[in-house]
Amino acid sequence: MQGLMQDYPLTLPHIFHRVERLFPDKEIVTSLPTGRERISYGEWAKRTRRLGGVLNDLGISPDGRVATFSWNTARHLELYFAAPCTGRVLHTLNLRLFPEQITYIVNHAEDEVIFVDKTVAGLLWPLLGSFTTVRHIVVIDDGGPFDTSEVPEGLELHDYETLLAAASPVDFHVEDENLAASMCYTSGTTGNPKGVVYSHRSTMLHTMAAMFADGFGARESDRILPVVPMFHANAWGLAHAAVATGADLIMPGPNLAAEPLAELIESERVTVAAGVPTIWMGVLPALKGRDTSALRVIPCGGSAVPKALSEAFREQLGLPIYQAWGMTETSPVATVGEIKSKLRGLPEEELADIRAMQGLPLFGVELRVLSQEHGAEVPWDGESRGELQAAGPWIAREYYNDDRSPESFTDDGWLRTGDVATINPDGYIKLVDRTKDVVKSGGEWISSVELENEIMAHPAVAEAAVIGVPHPKWQERPLACVVLKEGESVTKEELLEFLDGRVAKWWLPDDVVFIDEVPKTSVGKFSKKDLRHKFEDYTLPSA
Ligand code: ADP
Repeated sequence: MQGLMQDYPLTLPHIFHRVERLFPDKEIVTSLPTGRERISYGEWAKRTRRLGGVLNDLGISPDGRVATFSWNTARHLELYFAAPCTGRVLHTLNLRLFPEQITYIVNHAEDEVIFVDKTVAGLLWPLLGSFTTVRHIVVIDDGGPFDTSEVPEGLELHDYETLLAAASPVDFHVEDENLAASMCYTSGTTGNPKGVVYSHRSTMLHTMAAMFADGFGARESDRILPVVPMFHANAWGLAHAAVATGADLIMPGPNLAAEPLAELIESERVTVAAGVPTIWMGVLPALKGRDTSALRVIPCGGSAVPKALSEAFREQLGLPIYQAWGMTETSPVATVGEIKSKLRGLPEEELADIRAMQGLPLFGVELRVLSQEHGAEVPWDGESRGELQAAGPWIAREYYNDDRSPESFTDDGWLRTGDVATINPDGYIKLVDRTKDVVKSGGEWISSVELENEIMAHPAVAEAAVIGVPHPKWQERPLACVVLKEGESVTKEELLEFLDGRVAKWWLPDDVVFIDEVPKTSVGKFSKKDLRHKFEDYTLPSA
């Protein structure tokens, strides 16, 4: 017997129409070099409909790829909806990728048009000649000084506001929820970036998940600051969720320095502020003495949230960091650090340990950990580790036009995350490492993430990254690369003494080197690849 409910499509025009009708007076604030701009959702919706008209005027194919090279701004949000709501596919370009990677993904996705913020046009202009399918470049004037007056032959150059002024508004309809809505490429820590294609359906369901009370709980009364870029993994679903609920959005624009972010949080009465750990490491001191009473949650992920950082927020603001885990391939949010009610009475120290884990799978997401030795699911004992795999309606099933798909998905269709994890009896996932980053010492594994966490708990340490370096007897041993806080000092011996008792004896790094900065990836994560490269010829004292 079939169910008798309507087969109502889960497509993005629903979100658009809802905010247009119900919340036209709520606002989007964008911080730009030229000052703070405010626009109501009502006005934004009118512009977004006209932007749909612009895509028609430019002759973009019915499912053409519409690329953006843009910061978090109200205009980027116009593109976030105008492209998919007219059946096109939004392709957010990560502006921090290497130039050759940008060329690769623009050509691989077959982008027809690129909308580019003037503040970052200087990064794109040298590449324009390398694009094979792009026909239009549309410049969004956000106050950048770069001269964008000329483009290579074969490309048409436009000004965003001029196009909008001349265009007519269109109606938005998308019937098939399985059509592509947007795409985003992974940052490609090895090889070329891989394309992940989100459907309308997956985006709608992921948006709802960001609104779950046991997710980020996005709601109408929020004022949401997505520091996490819209060009990387959908700003963790917050850009869509804000529009869906009618929450105000506070867009940070190009300036992601600590002081301006802290100032935005205070003056705009931000309630939800989301960003990667390196952002919050910088912002915490800048929040000292400011009124942060409106803040209710600080979602943070993308790399492990050091316990010391979360605790420092709890001590200073009364609000610990709320850890989430996910990947470009998982839309991205797959777990969140909600504390089960039965655990809430635990001492703060134990709660801090739970918050340092990656959390519980969101409703809708299934996770399993498979032993890398025998391939069976490991018990939920918080000890047994293996590869984390994911399934669910907002998890990728393959990459776009890529023959590397088979190695990333299992025969029964689950995503192989490349992360090594444990699950405890309560279902909390703890990421031990990325498969590529574990230190393999004498047939046993040392978790670089856990070691880093413990080193960063030392009051003199600003950042620490651990890599495995070759060792004649043990195959690999850990090398700790440490950045000290300004004006602080600590010796290798003192650090090792500090770690003694905090980690197993055989985990203690064989050496500690002090560096000025941990190299970062395009999205602000520790770049172990660059660090390994830097210490390629390094010999451990014990080797
Ligand atoms: P890329 O794979 O291109 O670096 P992603 O942003 O998709 O870009 O990275 C996803 C990876 O980031 C995960 O597989 C995991 O290794 C890491 N990650 C994300 N969130 C967390 C977290 N809370 N703790 C530890 N690692 C995380």
